Amino acid sequence: MPMNLEADIERAADLIRHAHYLVAFTGAGHSTASGIPDFRSPGSGLWEKDNPLLVASIWAFRLNPKTFFNWIRPMVEVLLNAAPNAAHKALTEMEAMGYLKVIVTQNIDNLQQRAGSRRVLELHGHMREATCIRCYKVVPVDPVLTQTLLDGKVPRCECGGVLKPNVILFGEQLPIRVLNQAMEEARRCDLILVAGSSLEVAPAADIPFLALNSGAKGIIVNLQPTTFDQCADVVIHGDVAEVLPRIVAALA
Ligand SMILES: [Zn+2]
Repeated sequence: MPMNLEADIERAADLIRHAHYLVAFTGAGHSTASGIPDFRSPGSGLWEKDNPLLVASIWAFRLNPKTFFNWIRPMVEVLLNAAPNAAHKALTEMEAMGYLKVIVTQNIDNLQQRAGSRRVLELHGHMREATCIRCYKVVPVDPVLTQTLLDGKVPRCECGGVLKPNVILFGEQLPIRVLNQAMEEARRCDLILVAGSSLEVAPAADIPFLALNSGAKGIIVNLQPTTFDQCADVVIHGDVAEVLPRIVAALA
């Protein structure tokens, strides 16, 4: 391990040890070690074949739900087979140690909760429930509904309306209560740890900057440089699944 990486990990651990209220912010890079592709990074897939506005927008969903479900099916298959990775587990440990108060995530994969984390704010929704676009009934995405989706059928409510998974599509507002809660946590924290996010998707990506503007210190662990780097106190360009467990080890 290079000396400067070791020193950065020590500095990150030191900031965490002295923080009163640590908030983590995670993005797609946090789940790549679980085999979930970052849909926005070149070479990984879906956006290159399909224009997101034509398949993954609320307008496309309403016009042609079948195309939407054909597009999301491979993602559902990946999610069914995915397991939490070392980065998820590291944050769960930080929470259990009492340092980490809440995780704000852009991910819809439920892996942070499956790793045992208690407080997770999902800015882009999740796949645990679906909502009827006609009568607004909310139903759990149980094995039956998942199978319907995997079979290539459009899942429907008792009323005949199409069931939309509770993920935020292009053209939809972020869930306002979750967003407000995340903003409140950002203002309240005195340290924010950004893990595996390129911070390119607004308005979710504004959360870490809100924390800094409210006086918090910042740590970022991400493979690529981001606009957050110049304002952060510790910048580590590395794989979260390797770096976060090392930070936890330095805390113990
Ligand atoms: Zn309905």
